[in-house]
Amino acid sequence: MFCGSNWCGHMVVIPFDDLGLSDLTPFPDIRNHRRWVCQRCGSREVSVMPDWRDPQVVQAERLRQGS
Ligand SMILES: [Zn+2]
Repeated sequence: MFCGSNWCGHMVVIPFDDLGLSDLTPFPDIRNHRRWVCQRCGSREVSVMPDWRDPQVVQAERLRQGS
């Protein structure tokens, strides 16, 4: 998900498993399932979008960032 604030631009990647939703949940419904708030600026103007990248690429990025 991305923060929609122009000056913030905070991005958070949330593993789908953490949402506790069925794999069959239509993506547009995910937005409605929980209150999305930017953890940095508190904005609710948050855009939610799927992370279509290869899981191995995502994993490699996490390792590189040391988190
Ligand atoms: Zn923000």
